[in-house]
Amino acid sequence: MKELLKAVGLLHIEATLPTLVQQAQSQQLTYEAFLHQVLSTEREARQQMAYQRRLRLARLPASKTLEAFDFSFQPSLSARLVQELATLSFVATCTNVVLLGPPGVGKTHLVSALAVKAVQAGHSALFTTLSRLVDDIAAVPHPSLWRQRLRRYMHPEVLVIDEVGYTRLTPEQAHHLFELVTARYEHGSILLTSNTSFAEWGSLLGDEVLATALLDRLLHHAEVLAINGNSYRMKDRLAPGTSFSQPGGVRQDV
Ligand code: ADP
Ligand code: MG
Repeated sequence: MKELLKAVGLLHIEATLPTLVQQAQSQQLTYEAFLHQVLSTEREARQQMAYQRRLRLARLPASKTLEAFDFSFQPSLSARLVQELATLSFVATCTNVVLLGPPGVGKTHLVSALAVKAVQAGHSALFTTLSRLVDDIAAVPHPSLWRQRLRRYMHPEVLVIDEVGYTRLTPEQAHHLFELVTARYEHGSILLTSNTSFAEWGSLLGDEVLATALLDRLLHHAEVLAINGNSYRMKDRLAPGTSFSQPGGVRQDV
């Protein structure tokens, strides 16, 4: 039996077969119902493995969920809009999602949670930060190969680019980011987070013209969510009702 299952590619049934047979006997299943149960077991195991694989490949930093997000802590954020994004219609329409806001307001949490939803729904995803992204593209053994490396960031249906704004880009890095945003335009969604307003992207990229062209593509089909609340990391240090302000002399929390 073991060899036969392997030969026809039913790799997951073997372990559960004795239980399935026992159940079929005790429940007096018809041959057809038994076959259905056996094949469903195989399919479920395959789906679970494929999901685990997609999750691994997505390289999400920590398991964050929308269910664990406290919307009452961020009144400036529309819970309704986030729930709408969680239906994943943005993936099908190749719409980008941009989250803007200061540190600690939950940007990484939300994009991770949306990426998990996408993976659960069968989409491929990849999480990276802008600095890791540009380092990885530049790490090719020869400059002529960077376009090839860019494909790694073209394939996933959902690409998360976290922490845009913490590092200024060199002209080469800015060019790579521009090429990536252009290549994904109307082909695949980008979920991007930034602590920097769009007006400052010129200095971020070191080139006003390039920044304008990049934002033009990034924002043409995009949902932009600005979160103007307090840092969740600082919540226990803030009295209720106090607005978040960067304490003098304290390192900007990234
Ligand atoms: P940002 O990326 O905006 O700097 P994070 O998403 O990293 O912020 O959030 C900082 C920490 O606080 C994370 O552990 C995150 O899970 C948690 N957090 C932030 N906002 C909320 C929230 N509204 N409800 C629950 N946890 C939150
Ligand atoms: Mg973050």
